[in-house]
Amino acid sequence: MKVEIIEKMKNIVGVDWVVTELSRMQSYLSDETEHLLKPKANEDCIVVKPSSAQEISGIMKYANQEKIPVVPRGGGTGLCGAAIPTHSSIVMSLERLNQYVELDDKNLMVTVDSGFTLAQLNEELNKQKNLFFPIHPGDEGAQIGGMVAENAGGVSAVKHGIMRNHVKGLEVVLPTGEIVNFGGKLIKDNMGYDMLHMMIGSEGTLGIITKVILKLYAKENHRGTLLISFDTGEDAAAVVPKILQRGITPLAMEYMERYVVEKAAEHLGLTWPAKKGSVDLMFILEETTEDELYAKSEIIVEMCEKHHAVDSMIAETAKEQRNILEIRSNAYTAFKEEIADALDMAVAPASVPDLVRDINTIAKKYNTISPVVGHIGDGNTHNFIMLVNGEKPSYLDEMRQEMYEAAIKYGGTVTAEHGTGKTRKKHMNLQFSDREIEIMKGIKKAFDPNGILNPGTIID
Ligand SMILES: Cc1cc2nc3c(=O)[nH]c(=O)nc-3n(C[C@H](O)[C@H](O)[C@H](O)COP(=O)(O)OP(=O)(O)OC[C@H]3O[C@@H](n4cnc5c(N)ncnc54)[C@H](O)[C@@H]3O)c2cc1C
Repeated sequence: MKVEIIEKMKNIVGVDWVVTELSRMQSYLSDETEHLLKPKANEDCIVVKPSSAQEISGIMKYANQEKIPVVPRGGGTGLCGAAIPTHSSIVMSLERLNQYVELDDKNLMVTVDSGFTLAQLNEELNKQKNLFFPIHPGDEGAQIGGMVAENAGGVSAVKHGIMRNHVKGLEVVLPTGEIVNFGGKLIKDNMGYDMLHMMIGSEGTLGIITKVILKLYAKENHRGTLLISFDTGEDAAAVVPKILQRGITPLAMEYMERYVVEKAAEHLGLTWPAKKGSVDLMFILEETTEDELYAKSEIIVEMCEKHHAVDSMIAETAKEQRNILEIRSNAYTAFKEEIADALDMAVAPASVPDLVRDINTIAKKYNTISPVVGHIGDGNTHNFIMLVNGEKPSYLDEMRQEMYEAAIKYGGTVTAEHGTGKTRKKHMNLQFSDREIEIMKGIKKAFDPNGILNPGTIID
């Protein structure tokens, strides 16, 4: 990296906040994407840690003028290589933008700097007793800005949706350096184009998010976890739309093949409580009263029994509930060393049984297995393509393509929540027409005429 760029960065953010040694930079050049898929980082980078939107504006004005790539970086928990610099770049870590700006309990909203982590937000809100923020992707090290940029989902999407449903306002520094505000505290606002929602899920390609206004909700204090076992994935998947059609919306509905959760439990030194059957559904219910919680639990158990459930249990204590959720959350981590790819497809909830059947048929064709866990209530399956003897399977690309085509056939998507990033952009044409992709390229050009912000992410 040229000396004049390093000097300019030191002038803007201060000498202590520019990292140039590779050994201190390494952790900023990676994320949590599967090893085999992870794009190779360009090591000719510097890491810069600004502390305000004004400093970011100064960096962007200079980078835009000199046409230097800039890669915004949050908590580095992303799963699509989006935060990995593949060009010689200024890596902009948002970690020093970490103020809890304002709790507005009259409007049920909170404003935070984008580098505030999910763990920090939950800690602050726990002090309030009655308020909570519902979105929880698996890793609390994710920053709120990163969660907006990836439009994160997680286990509670059945009831509460995804980030997009809870972001009200953003302060953004554009690639050309201007500071702008999109949205605000309004519930209704139809003036002009909706730039707020353009930014959500834009993966650091359209602007750098510096402040976020989030919607908060009153806590529902009665929580219960049900674990219901089935002999087949088809039986388990078939009951899910029926429960939703009955008007019951659990906080989470998770689909878990037994050997996946047994391995995750072993990884954590815990024991998976269900023994009969080969597939489990986990339901987490959060209700205002205990009566409501029990009544809905009973209906779910009855409906599952009608759909050939072979066993059911209620996790009574908070510890049992925590263990089950922790085991489920660690499915990916437990398998990480054996996975060639972890897919993130989604179809409309009623098509999940068809997709699960197709996944199994495709896996059999390649004489392998493709373990499935998933946020089944929102139609989002995570299935793994396994390594063969620790190596990338020769059929990886072909098998993945067939699985994606299966999802598209049912009107689905290649990625529900983990993002396009640098790893899935080559599959854009499976889902979009040339004209649709051209419009997206036009949007990128309007925000970032010199193509300096996170190049190689989503579109080239
Ligand atoms: C164990 C595990 C489980 C997970 N489970 C889920 C899950 O269930 N659901 C889910 O949706 N995700 C899940 N994730 C993925 C991950 O947590 C999310 O993608 C998260 O939203 C990324 O946030 P981050 O701060 O780590 O962003 P990073 O990884 O640092 O960056 C991600 C992208 O956002 C951009 N970006 C970051 N901050 C900003 C900013 N301030 N302004 C503009 N662009 C920015 C980066 O340039 C990059 O393109 C999981 C990850 C792990 C490791």
